[in-house]
Order: sequence, then structure tokens, then C-alpha cells
Amino acid sequence: MDGVLVGKRLIGTQAPITVGWENIPRVQGGPVKLFVFTWFQPTILFALIAFWYYAPNSIAKASTAIWIGVGFRVLLLALEWVNPRYRSWQLTWKELVTDLFFVGLGYTILSTIEGYIGDGAVIEAVQNSFDWDKLAWFTGLPLLLQALLISFTFDFGQYWMHRGMHNWYPLWLTHAPHHFITQLNINKGAVGNPVELFLIGLGIGGFFDFLPRAALLAGTLGLAVGTYQHINVRFNTPRWWRFVFNTTEHHSLHHSQDYEATRSNYSGTWIIIDRMFGTCVDGEAELLGMEGGRRMTIRETMAYPFTEGWKTFKERFGKDRFGGSAAVPAE
Ligand SMILES: [Zn+2]
Ligand SMILES: [Zn+2]
Repeated sequence: MDGVLVGKRLIGTQAPITVGWENIPRVQGGPVKLFVFTWFQPTILFALIAFWYYAPNSIAKASTAIWIGVGFRVLLLALEWVNPRYRSWQLTWKELVTDLFFVGLGYTILSTIEGYIGDGAVIEAVQNSFDWDKLAWFTGLPLLLQALLISFTFDFGQYWMHRGMHNWYPLWLTHAPHHFITQLNINKGAVGNPVELFLIGLGIGGFFDFLPRAALLAGTLGLAVGTYQHINVRFNTPRWWRFVFNTTEHHSLHHSQDYEATRSNYSGTWIIIDRMFGTCVDGEAELLGMEGGRRMTIRETMAYPFTEGWKTFKERFGKDRFGGSAAVPAE
């Protein structure tokens, strides 16, 4: 046997990752199913854009966006059930309970904290100190162009934050728990250490908060594109979509067990940013996670940056500071 048996899976004879769009499986089934799973993503995106573009001011507000977000997730949950990408990613009770813990955390504690020291504070600081007349050139642009610029600029910041997390150890400590997930489903975007979620949420979005309509449109791009990063659904994503936008396929490679593959596809919405900086790899992966797919508990996810950071600190500086008693891993 030329492969290595890890658990029940053969690693080595089977490539752990798939590279190239031509090698990715297509949706199997009748014409109706093919139609739905080819056009679902663009249809929802354009419908939501049309909604935010034409909705009267009484409806176009943040609370409506939250309810659309919830409804969209329920719809995607149904799609995961009808047409899963991988059986091995199917939801178990254990996964669901873990996911819901982090989704709940995101909706409650994090948004409160961010209100004080994150986006909320940025909005206030900016609005109190900025010379708004300088932005007249921006507010004079067509609404959709404003939205595209906001979305792109925000994602540009996220791209570098995410790439930084993969290249600078202190930031990596906060991001590593997210890379211990072993399957993708629509709630996995919320799973991670709260410090990381806060850092990723720190955006320049706050700068544009004075333009509610354009910001809502930009938010819809994030929702109707970025959500597909973590989902267990097989789509026949249109070629133009996957050239411009991030997809499940791209993000599954980013989460794969192959180290080199994880150093690609950093963007959230606009994969074209990865294409610009040479970090885009088209392909997909089924085997995900770190340390051979070890599942991380909620407790460890919460504590990891601190416990792991302390461990590394002791390993590096232990000899000098603790009289040579600290453990240095035997290799
Ligand atoms: Zn990452
Ligand atoms: Zn992810």
C-alpha cells in the first residue's frame, strides 16, 4: 500500500485537495435540480440588490437586514439538507450544538462589545472628527457604485487582516481555532475565538455608516456572497461568479489539511483580490482541519490563543527565565 491509513481514510494515494475547476464534480440530477443549483446564487443576489435599491426608507433599515439574514440562513440550511456537497460534512447534534453556541455568542456578546470598542466607537470617532465635505465626490456617485466600493474596500481590509493572521504568530493564535473546524456548514463562519471575530469585524465599514442605503447594499453583497464560504451545498456556480466572487470551493481549500493550500483564498467576498495578489487557487477540499482533523472543544476554542501563546512563550524563553526547567518539545 502506498498510502498512509489515518483513521478510516487513505491519505497519499488520494489527493487530499482538488485543484482546477475542471476537476470539481458537478451537480447530479434532473433538469429542475440542475436549474436550481446553477441559478440560485445569482438570483438571490440580484433579488436582494433590487430589494435594497427600491425599498422605501421605512423598510430599508438594519433590523430588516437582520431578518433577511436569518431567513437566508434557514433557506440555506434546507439546501444543505437537499443537496449536500459531502456526506462527511453532514450535520451531527454535536456539531450543531457547538455551532449554535458561537452563533449565539456572535449575536449577543460580540455585538455589544463591538458597539463599545469596535465599529460603534469607530463610527462615533469618525463622525465627530471627519470633514464630510471631502466625501462629497463619493456621495455623488451612483448608489450601486458606492455600494460596490464600500464592499470592495471593506473586503480589501479583511483580506490583509486575514493574510496577516496566517503570517504573524500573535494574530495566528487568534485565528487558529477557526482552522480546527472539520466540516463546512452555514454556521461555521461564527465558530472561532472571540478575539479573532472582533479583529475581523474591526472594519472601515464604520466610515460609511452615514450612507445607510449604500451600506445596506454593500452588506447584502457580503451576505449573498460571503455566506457561501462556509456551506455544505454543491452548486454549479457560474463561471463569472467564481472568477469575481469567493466560493465554498475556494474556502474549503483554505480550510484543508494541506498546509500550502491554506495559504490561499484569504478574501471574504471578492476572490478577485486574491487573484490581484497571486494568492488565489481554484479548487476544493473535503478533508479539513488541523492536526489531522482533531476536533476542538468549545472550551479550547475560547482559551486557545492564551494557553497556546503561553506554552510557546515558555518554550522560547523558558530556559533563561525558568532555570532550564521548561519543556522543549522533543523532535
Ligand atoms: Zn484562515
Ligand atoms: Zn473559514
